[in-house]
Amino acid sequence: MEIFKSLELEKSKLLHIVKTERVKCLIIGSGPAGFTAAIYTSRANLNPVLYTGLEMGGQLTTTTEVHNYPGYPEGVTGPVMMDDFKKQAERFGADVRFGIASSVDFSGRTHKVIIDESTLIEADAVIIATGATAKYLGIESEIKYSGMGVSACATCDGFFYRGKDVAVVGGGDTAAEEATYLAGLARKVYMIVRRDELRASKIMQEKVFNTKNIQILWEHQTIDLFGENGVEGATLVKKKGTKEEEIIKIPIDGFFLAIGHTPNSAIFKSYLELDPVGYIKTVPGTTKTNVPGVFAAGDVQDPHYRQAVTAAGSGCMAAIDAERYLSELKHILLPVSTVQ
Ligand code: FAD
Ligand code: NAP
Repeated sequence: MEIFKSLELEKSKLLHIVKTERVKCLIIGSGPAGFTAAIYTSRANLNPVLYTGLEMGGQLTTTTEVHNYPGYPEGVTGPVMMDDFKKQAERFGADVRFGIASSVDFSGRTHKVIIDESTLIEADAVIIATGATAKYLGIESEIKYSGMGVSACATCDGFFYRGKDVAVVGGGDTAAEEATYLAGLARKVYMIVRRDELRASKIMQEKVFNTKNIQILWEHQTIDLFGENGVEGATLVKKKGTKEEEIIKIPIDGFFLAIGHTPNSAIFKSYLELDPVGYIKTVPGTTKTNVPGVFAAGDVQDPHYRQAVTAAGSGCMAAIDAERYLSELKHILLPVSTVQ
């Protein structure tokens, strides 16, 4: 029954198609992974077409300074760096287009991707580089202080808080990891945990408990952030909804969110194997998904590292995996007499 339902859905989506195009290699996403895949696939003569999605340049376009990407000894701003990636991909012929992949059909040998609900791209190989989005609490001040004390990446921004006081929200492995990382830089780290226990693995919990400058604020939730020209403190509620409910304020310079990420994989879930959080599963040591000819690179398949340089590295891997897949496919599809 489910199969018939999804076929009906596909038919209704195809009704709006105004243009169909055939390409060798389609890249979805314009972050470090997508543009690196575009540089390598264009140099391999695969004539890649890359759709940027809403966020041209990816997550780094939302930050100011990037200091840990090799090749920029003086640092670089995220938008400038991603413009460099784009220019380098275009220099070798990558066709970079604005558009959002709205649905896919990976059931056949030719992979179908619908862009903006109106263009059907038929591709021999697809590289998915759609990234992941950090979850936020949903309070207004997170937006107000974005880039002014609020961060969702301790590895990226921790450096700016050397010798200062910071808070990390969350009680999972990411929060535990970020808190211990920040504890090596900051003077004091508050861990704001909404329950009376951590979700993090025992080994990560031990690390947190054994780090002297981490103070866990059990059963606390963040209501607001305050400060003149950036974060100067957070207002928290302790034991919300109980008789002991109490409002407290903590002085901090940085507020780090570590309550999980959402991989941008929803449109692929009918065809690709995902882990319980939604990260695309790849064959270890490669970017191959469970569908031949579909590859995944960058944060959308990486629950652990989530850095620009690792995303770029896996974009390179995806391009090489795609190139090898296409050259094998060419041999399969050629008539026997023409194969050398
Ligand atoms: P992303 O950069 O997330 O790009 C995803 C791309 O996919 C976007 O272009 C988006 O438009 C596109 N997309 C999504 N859905 C669709 C769709 N349906 N159709 C078409 N396109 C789609 N890392 C560092 O190494 N150093 C740092 O200093 C650093 N600072 C950071 C600061 C901030 C504020 C943030 C949020 C992250 C930072 N990171 C940093 C992490 C780094 O940005 C990511 O690890 C990296 O950008 C991941 O690259 P990616 O190519 O996998 O995905
Ligand atoms: P997670 O395991 O889902 O944990 C999220 C944490 O944030 C939980 O403690 C949760 O609280 C809290 N939280 C969620 N929404 C909140 C809100 N609105 N307000 C306050 N707190 C909130 O996410 P994660 O830590 O990012 O880990 C994701 C996956 O990656 C996990 O499988 C994890 O094991 C893995 N990971 C592993 C490592 C490692 O092995 N080194 C490192 C990082 C991540 P509750 O507990 O109350 O729900």
